[in-house]
Amino acid sequence: MSRPAPAGIVIAGGGIGGLATALALQARGLRATVLEAAPEISPLGVGINIQPAAVAELIGLGLGDALAATAIPTREHRYLNSRGETLWTEPRGVAAGHAAPQYSIHRGELQMMLLDAVRARLRQDAVRTGIQVRGFAHSGDRVQVRTRTQSGAETTVEADVLLGADGLHSAVRAQLHPDEPPVRTTIVRMWRGLTELPEFLDGLTMIIASDEQANRIVAYPCSRRHAERGAVLLNWVCLAADPRWQGEAPDGPGRLEDLLPYFEHWDFGWLDIRATFAACPEVLHYPMVDRDPLPSWGEHRTTLLGDAAHPMYPIGANGASQAILDGVALAAELAHDGDAPAALRRYEDVRRPATTAIVHANRTMDRSERALAERPGGDVSGELQAITSDYRATVERSQALPAAHRAQP
Ligand SMILES: Cc1cc2nc3c(=O)[nH]c(=O)nc-3n(C[C@H](O)[C@H](O)[C@H](O)COP(=O)(O)OP(=O)(O)OC[C@H]3O[C@@H](n4cnc5c(N)ncnc54)[C@H](O)[C@@H]3O)c2cc1C
Repeated sequence: MSRPAPAGIVIAGGGIGGLATALALQARGLRATVLEAAPEISPLGVGINIQPAAVAELIGLGLGDALAATAIPTREHRYLNSRGETLWTEPRGVAAGHAAPQYSIHRGELQMMLLDAVRARLRQDAVRTGIQVRGFAHSGDRVQVRTRTQSGAETTVEADVLLGADGLHSAVRAQLHPDEPPVRTTIVRMWRGLTELPEFLDGLTMIIASDEQANRIVAYPCSRRHAERGAVLLNWVCLAADPRWQGEAPDGPGRLEDLLPYFEHWDFGWLDIRATFAACPEVLHYPMVDRDPLPSWGEHRTTLLGDAAHPMYPIGANGASQAILDGVALAAELAHDGDAPAALRRYEDVRRPATTAIVHANRTMDRSERALAERPGGDVSGELQAITSDYRATVERSQALPAAHRAQP
């Protein structure tokens, strides 16, 4: 009896990484199916940033107009103290000489944009929700992907290749690297929210403000639709380091009363910070975690991408961008020839060192910015310039995709 036709490439996880990868594969003529554990994909999260190298790839995948209609092209990062005084400014995106903008966008809106494109270009059932990937087994030139539906039914899906885009707590990674230590926790907690305001600076600026205890606020407008009606949807993230926060805690709803004490003495003059937090309809809480980079990502016909491969601190705003670049590189290698295991190893050879450097650069930038904030008084513009230009140099060196990997328009 002949074997059932395989499902082509199976992607575990329908986040930004998994969906961008499905689009990149389709653009290269390859067929993918995304298995997503959530019962449906809904626009979760708050704001994220997509860096110019990843925006260029999304434009190459035909999403330029949709992005421009949804996102804010961030022009400047402005470093402030807790009195709202400017310490240093850094041009970003097109203003920094890149061909593509840096976009600030609601994570959920980006995810839905990618989902709509996948369903329109691949097939309506290319993304199957309510299916959790549990594990896999290689047999010859196929991968047997073990899944469980929401009703608890266990099934096996046959694939040519399995791509683990299943995020921080990846089941694919756990099977590939069973002895890996748990997620690396810190004493930093983050609270995130979205607040509608009448205005925020020039509408294109991200602020990064610190006090002498290295408590921080990062905030930026993230919605073009709000801007078009003369308003601002401000994404804000508060970071507080406190030994009582050590340990892993799940992402979930946050409480204003937990974050406010760290920012009691802050006064920008031009923005009522506590009122901005209080006007947010839903505060979200995230621990700041990452994992040590792996010595290898995959084996045979299985590999990892995005947060499953290289979870990183959000300092540097690179998680979603690196997931997109992984997907584009993977698609190019898989389309290059029919030897899937060799293609996956070539992908890892390019993307693993690149993203390892960024995981370390994020840790270094966090440490350096924190140490600088705690240093008493004085002009810190020189140090901030050095910190940001070191980071930028690492990222730009690491994320330059070879020409053969670039997305096809
Ligand atoms: C709900 C949510 C909200 C977020 N909010 C923000 C935010 O506001 N700001 C920010 O900077 N970053 C946020 N992130 C993280 C950010 O999206 C990622 O760092 C980045 O986009 C890389 O994406 P990824 O696709 O690799 O991983 P993720 O975005 O984590 O996506 C992984 C996907 O895989 C699914 N999944 C997990 N396990 C399985 C499994 N076993 N089988 C099948 N599917 C599985 C998850 O449901 C998820 O949809 C959020 C992530 C999630 C999941």
